[in-house]
Amino acid sequence: MTGQSDQRQWRTDTDSLLRKLVSAIPDMLSTYWLSADGESHRFVFISEHVQSVLGIAPEVLRENAEAMFSAVHPEDVPGLKASVAESAFALSPWRRQVRLKMKAGHYDWFEINSMPERQADGSTVWYGQFHSIQRYKDLEHTLRERETESAFQADFQRLIANLSTNFINLGFGAIDQRITDLLRAIGGFFEVDRAYLYEFSPDYNVMDNTHEWCSAGVPALIDSQRNVPTDGFEWWQCKVNEMLSGNRVIFVEEIEQIPAGPERTMLEQQGVCSMFCVPVRVRGLVTGFFGVDSMRKRAWREDQADLLIIVSGLLSGALERNRLESELLNQSIRDPLTALHNRRYLMPRLHEMLSRSTRYGEHFALAMFDLDRFKRINDSIGHLGGDLCLRTFAEILLEQTREADVVARFGGEEFVVAFSNVSPADIRLTVNRIICAVRNHDFVFEDQVVPLTVSAGVADIGELDVVPASPDPLIRLADDRLYAAKQAGRDCLVDASGVSRI
Ligand code: GH3
Ligand code: MG
Ligand code: MG
Repeated sequence: MTGQSDQRQWRTDTDSLLRKLVSAIPDMLSTYWLSADGESHRFVFISEHVQSVLGIAPEVLRENAEAMFSAVHPEDVPGLKASVAESAFALSPWRRQVRLKMKAGHYDWFEINSMPERQADGSTVWYGQFHSIQRYKDLEHTLRERETESAFQADFQRLIANLSTNFINLGFGAIDQRITDLLRAIGGFFEVDRAYLYEFSPDYNVMDNTHEWCSAGVPALIDSQRNVPTDGFEWWQCKVNEMLSGNRVIFVEEIEQIPAGPERTMLEQQGVCSMFCVPVRVRGLVTGFFGVDSMRKRAWREDQADLLIIVSGLLSGALERNRLESELLNQSIRDPLTALHNRRYLMPRLHEMLSRSTRYGEHFALAMFDLDRFKRINDSIGHLGGDLCLRTFAEILLEQTREADVVARFGGEEFVVAFSNVSPADIRLTVNRIICAVRNHDFVFEDQVVPLTVSAGVADIGELDVVPASPDPLIRLADDRLYAAKQAGRDCLVDASGVSRI
């Protein structure tokens, strides 16, 4: 008797001890029973706190496990059922990660870990637990995000490094191609549909799409975006002003954010859903903007502005250098007094003409001009007056020649015009027209009219017995004829047919 009551007492104590232990464990311990035919199941035992965690009363689960399965995320149900069946069949541990709907309504990740035991009637019972792994999942997610982020940053840095190297190694004249390459690289990197560069007119009233890249199947706009007037586009003008005054970016996530007006209509017609523009500066001044368009709505990364500003800095640097280089080049091939090309420019052009003449029999000729008695002009009106005469003579040369003719100051008061594919008769006509224009022009300096004439010698490549290796013999011939024109009394031209004066 005493022994039995002791045993009962011990059992009661054990039950209460177990219940206490179980309630102290944050995981939900469970004993899950599945009938042999798999048709009915219940939790013979489950920790009391299933109530506070999942909002399901343990009594309900003791009757039927269905409520637990209903709390499983729909996507995880098939996998969970398969794992139970497999564990029951093979009597292997039942391990599965599932999302369970919490009492508060959201899903948290749990790991089920249970050992099966076959019963005499063919049913199966699992002893184990539901262990919350949400913290690990959160951590995993953060790590994955950080990994993606650092991969993105690393890719971006690599991209910028490549692009900067491209721009640093920029050969003169290659900038347009490099800008297009940059737009392609940026467009691909940010997965947009169009990337472009616009240039403003100095008064900001007109903008011109100078470079564009489009993803496959997206129509190019560059041809329709030449010299676009900005007036009438109020919203855009306001944004441009912000760009000019505050170095602000233009940032549109959804085209509907733009007030109804011509800009929105235009962008809608172009199929643009989101866009991003960043100012481009050259020597501190906003000269244009760089932007990307997306044909689908998208959220831009928060740091996208910073990233694109880095790109715009790269473009600014390249454009600035390009401008400087073209200025330097221009300076080196132009005469500062008259702005005509100089001898450094002329000589390679003559070499080109010579080789075209050798190769294709293309005809060309030179006229060499020398102002008459220019020393006297300088003596009478001074050097500044002489300079003015030289500038005016340069203007006359440009007025009287075609764009295809090369007009250069050869040195001092000597000038050369190289004619390609013009007949000797037409050249004589043009040169005579120049001589007449000079004779009839009123060169005025400090209210003083200065009479000025010019002489010319013309030499044609066809006159030389053999095509020379350099243009020097032709220059010498033109110079000799110029001397002959001086000898003939100046204010005239000498060519193969002799002195010509009209
Ligand atoms: P000719 O009719 O024989 O050519 O006589 P010329 O006085 O023109 O003789 P020459 O060609 O020897 O003299 C050229 C003068 O042109 C000498 C030089 O002072 C002047 N000259 C050369 N370059 C410039 C310049 O840049 N500005 C000015 N004002 N004068 C120049
Ligand atoms: Mg002279
Ligand atoms: Mg001279």
